[in-house]
Amino acid sequence: MELLQKLVVINLNYITVGLMVLFYSLEHLMTNQISVNKKTFHWANNMFFLIVFVLLNFLWSFVVVHCMEWLSSRKIGLFYLIEIPYWLKLILGVAMLDFVMYWFHRLGHLVPFLWRFHRVHHSDTNMDASTNFRGHPIETFLWFGASNILAAGIFGIDLLAFGLYFFIITPLLFLEHANLRFPTWLDKTVGLVFTTPNLHKIHHDQNQHYTDSNFADIFILWDRLFGTFTYKPIEQVKPGLEEFDSGEPQSFWYLLKSPFINIKRKI
Ligand SMILES: [Zn+2]
Ligand SMILES: [Zn+2]
Repeated sequence: MELLQKLVVINLNYITVGLMVLFYSLEHLMTNQISVNKKTFHWANNMFFLIVFVLLNFLWSFVVVHCMEWLSSRKIGLFYLIEIPYWLKLILGVAMLDFVMYWFHRLGHLVPFLWRFHRVHHSDTNMDASTNFRGHPIETFLWFGASNILAAGIFGIDLLAFGLYFFIITPLLFLEHANLRFPTWLDKTVGLVFTTPNLHKIHHDQNQHYTDSNFADIFILWDRLFGTFTYKPIEQVKPGLEEFDSGEPQSFWYLLKSPFINIKRKI
């Protein structure tokens, strides 16, 4: 268990920073970048979010790992009541963590109080790998952390399944936000079951009809099943939120305090 805890807490931070460097290089080599000034401002602000993420991750992982150990030592959850192979429990565990997160994410759009925090993630008008970290720390660690613990309590998800979930979702979230081109055939094949980068970028479109769709991180199947799937050509996607379009609303300090500021949605 101790090894697993280290794997979940420390390695995840190393992997996160490593992936950040990898995607930064790929984006630099493969795409036409926005102007240097704009890019530096954008990166500097998102890097503050990355630093907060890495620091809080130590504390958060400690809490979540202990909650999961407590739940599994008491065999709480559905998977402890049914006889199925362990490998199947692992796959179902990952699927159920994603399923509960789908509903938490959907609520983050539906409930105005929660949207105040979640809109920080949607505020980025220059989407790239660093957008992955642009999330309000209160939302990332309290709201989404609660989603993981609730999923573990309902379904009986152990630490190994939880670690597996994070080893899948961490690189996937980088891919979904990266400023790289992905072919549309991917959306028509892999995208029948899994969330592709194009499908997640549609979720970042400024038009609320599209913002309030494609909520799933791993299995787009949840959106297809619960009627929140949408599609539009990637060239027509305009990421961000009009009310956060440029200047001060794009800065780290403004975004950090923005949940406590009344800001009307424009589109
Ligand atoms: Zn969202
Ligand atoms: Zn996103």
